[in-house]
Amino acid sequence: MEGMIEVNCDVCGSEDSIELLALLGSAYHECKQCGLIYAKWIADNYEDINDQAFAAEIEDYAAKVDIKKKRYQKKLVPDPSQAPYTFIYTEKCAHTMRPCGSSAR
Ligand SMILES: [Zn+2]
Repeated sequence: MEGMIEVNCDVCGSEDSIELLALLGSAYHECKQCGLIYAKWIADNYEDINDQAFAAEIEDYAAKVDIKKKRYQKKLVPDPSQAPYTFIYTEKCAHTMRPCGSSAR
């Protein structure tokens, strides 16, 4: 098949398999040695496809991390009970807007 390569079982390396389903120019096979079900034919440039997909996912993930970090930083206040370790933070109480567990005056 053009643009595709035939691969053996990813787990045991056996080429002895049974075709279960042919789909979109590939086919799912079940390995006769270990039972793994895998795509027998994959795109010959699968590493490029994986790299592009990974780069897109990591960029999307990094954007979400920044948004969540800003959101949670707004909810955090220094915890006076941990002084002088002021880098330890606790979440604000929803009612008093003070660190949870501190007495409201
Ligand atoms: Zn196998």
